[in-house]
Amino acid sequence: MVSMSESHVIMKRHAVFIPYPAQGHVTPMLKLAKLLNAAHNFHVSFVHTLHNHHRILRSHGPSGVSGIPSFRFHFISDGLPPAENPNATQDIPTLCNSVNQTGANAFRDLLSNLNSAGDAPPVSCVVADAAMAFAVDVAEELGLPVVRFWTASACGLLGYAQYECLIQKGIIPLSDSSCLTNGYLDKVVEGIPSMEGITLKHLPSFIRTTDINDFMLNYLLQRVRTISASRCPLIFNTFDTLDDSVLQTLAAAKITQAPVFTIGPLSLHPTKTNEPVHSKIRPNLLPDDPFCLPWLDTKPPNSIIYINYGSITTLTPDQVMEFAKGLVNSMQSFLWVIRPDLVGSVKPGSVALKIQELVDRTQGRGMIASWCDQEKVLAHPSVGGFLTHCGWNSTIEALSHGVPMVCWPFFAEQMTNCWFCCKKWGVGAEIGEVTMEEVERVVRMVMEGDKGKEMKRKAGEWKKLAEDATMNPNGSSCLNFDMLVNHLIGT
Ligand code: UDP
Repeated sequence: MVSMSESHVIMKRHAVFIPYPAQGHVTPMLKLAKLLNAAHNFHVSFVHTLHNHHRILRSHGPSGVSGIPSFRFHFISDGLPPAENPNATQDIPTLCNSVNQTGANAFRDLLSNLNSAGDAPPVSCVVADAAMAFAVDVAEELGLPVVRFWTASACGLLGYAQYECLIQKGIIPLSDSSCLTNGYLDKVVEGIPSMEGITLKHLPSFIRTTDINDFMLNYLLQRVRTISASRCPLIFNTFDTLDDSVLQTLAAAKITQAPVFTIGPLSLHPTKTNEPVHSKIRPNLLPDDPFCLPWLDTKPPNSIIYINYGSITTLTPDQVMEFAKGLVNSMQSFLWVIRPDLVGSVKPGSVALKIQELVDRTQGRGMIASWCDQEKVLAHPSVGGFLTHCGWNSTIEALSHGVPMVCWPFFAEQMTNCWFCCKKWGVGAEIGEVTMEEVERVVRMVMEGDKGKEMKRKAGEWKKLAEDATMNPNGSSCLNFDMLVNHLIGT
């Protein structure tokens, strides 16, 4: 077995990372890649798609895609024509379909080119996103050690694993679209260990279809089947104390039969990935707004509610205005990240102008940005709450920094993450229908009320447990990390 301290004696290995081409997948895989490079001397080849390669070039210039000598970026095609909006995440179902149809050949060619280029050690292992199933097949075909990284939550995987049974029971697909509004989704789903009392509404959202052939429903059914049948180990960006019960349920139900490495929260591992050499390797596909952190520095501790819906969520113009009015009426100070493509199908300028007018009237209480370094924002002492869409990265980052959440899940397993935050982990309160009254009510509850204080206390407890898992050499995530390294070097 190799421990962190012995790692410098390992001969240089070459790990190829291939994330699904969306921010929420790139970020955790890049964190893991940096850790393997910094702490375990792996040469890393990190594979983007051409679409994202261009986004990074536009956001960060050539340095964003050049990497460092022991950490190089490469790209393959996603098989799609140039996107209508070259700065946004592509349509998810189209991308899932295309990349999995075309990826195997492109990936095989890339591995062959990496080996023949002669400027790096031969490829010795692959870390493949679970959404890039073809990459596991290619690695196995070539006899390379490979691990699958499920970048979403463990509870999300358990949620997706219910689809098969819900179809058998005739609960999904929905009989007609009125089920979306007539209370049907409030039905409690019985018999899921670790999720007692969960409703259909809080299971991953691809059940909200009347079509048994719905692409995303079937795509996720297939992902779960592949994982259950595979002997390839699985990585989760979580820690054992947080997800103990879910992990046990996954194993007992034989959804995970191969070794599971819970190595998170990835950003808390105390290695040298923040040194200047690694800070050149940035995960974000969009440039950070440089004004956020200096603005937060001027604010008292725990006084700011930070609002960010991640990289994919879109809002209607009405929703964004209700959020704006609710935030302003809550009388809280806020940092609100509004991505250029957040409000779909309208000219960004028109809504932005209306919001800016509202924010201007708050006399410095509100700040709008287009993108930020979220981990630094969440770690800032002035941030006392996080209004989030409950993407898994945002959720685990909030837990890592002890920040309670106002939850507004948008799609996929975000619904399940929200339920766990609110019902199991004691760190979240959910916004129902987006009205200004509801936004104001929940924001005030989290930022001012006794319930908010209790959530803050609970979030602080999770933060300590997360630190213990990652920073203590005998912590579960640390030990699992060493086991992962051993798997990748083939011992
Ligand atoms: N993120 C960021 N700045 C932003 C918005 C998001 O750095 O302004 C990062 C965030 O820290 C997280 C990732 O982007 O690591 C988003 O992933 P998540 O799973 O939360 O949501 P998704 O974008 O996949 O919906």
